[in-house]
Amino acid sequence: MAGSIRKMPWSLLVGVAISLAIGPGIPNIAASEEHPVSGEIVVTLLGTGGPEPTATRFGPATLIQAGGLSLLFDAGRGVTVRLYQLGISSGKGIDAVFLTHYHSDHVEGLPDLWMTGYMFGPFGSRSRPLRLWGPSDGKEPSGAARIAKGLTEAFSDDTRIREADEHIATIATQIEARDFQPDRVVFDESGVKVTAFTVDHGDLVKPSVGYRIDYGSRSVTLSGDTKFSENLIKFASGTDLLIHEVFAMSPQLATLPQLKPVADHHSSPEQAGAVFSRVKPKLAAYSHLVLLGVSADEILSRTRGAYQGPVAAGEDLMRFEVGNSIVVKRWNQDLRRYSD
Ligand SMILES: [Zn+2]
Ligand SMILES: [Zn+2]
Repeated sequence: MAGSIRKMPWSLLVGVAISLAIGPGIPNIAASEEHPVSGEIVVTLLGTGGPEPTATRFGPATLIQAGGLSLLFDAGRGVTVRLYQLGISSGKGIDAVFLTHYHSDHVEGLPDLWMTGYMFGPFGSRSRPLRLWGPSDGKEPSGAARIAKGLTEAFSDDTRIREADEHIATIATQIEARDFQPDRVVFDESGVKVTAFTVDHGDLVKPSVGYRIDYGSRSVTLSGDTKFSENLIKFASGTDLLIHEVFAMSPQLATLPQLKPVADHHSSPEQAGAVFSRVKPKLAAYSHLVLLGVSADEILSRTRGAYQGPVAAGEDLMRFEVGNSIVVKRWNQDLRRYSD
């Protein structure tokens, strides 16, 4: 049944949800998505783009599944759409959300994830608060708490109406924000440990963190948004999979003064290659690719000037199964499943 539910269109899923609601309850779509085999970390790039509203690369968001948990890192534009393509509920399918920093392209999918998540249906049906982690900027309320407070206020008409009209539980409409100081473990549940570490996204873009996720002997490190960062190299030491941001532009665009501050906040392919050559992960992969007038192939060849190890240019829905080796899978949109 699990596999068949994943391929059903939404109209049929509504039927299944309604018919099962009378009997054993609403189907847990998240449970229908195969969870990783024991000991593996499965990483899915839900969005690999930047602020540009393109249909081919959605905003930054990475799903990490391990120990029976599904953790979301950043919630860029379109995150709920990508989750739904995978048959994962934006509500009960996500156990926690972690933000790297507060630039809009990393956060703008959050209202959608939060509100779609508390609606009834296989795409939602969260029965507890959305749990949100974010780095503290030292103010009160800080970071994630400010977002939680603001969203709750901005959309209070929706929660009020749905609670009264659709009997959505109040607890499901709440956001539980947890701010943290970086360079420490910020989450430790079901054998999955998440460590947040400071990265360098420019003097005015603070706080900004990357994350390392450890599960058993496996680990994955996410750079967040950063220039070349020694602290990232330190925290990524010994990691299996290193997912790194990259920014590159054509020589013509590089002459535009408006793009200089943007370029100064990110890593070039050469700088990322220098990081990879120090960390030596089993696999390096790019996500959050901001490519202005250059191709993904071009950034890979520029990376190889500094790093000869394995490196992949991420695509939306690309999946990495981190076990004894790392298996890379691509989403086949025609078949609506992963190709082998
Ligand atoms: Zn940023
Ligand atoms: Zn960004």
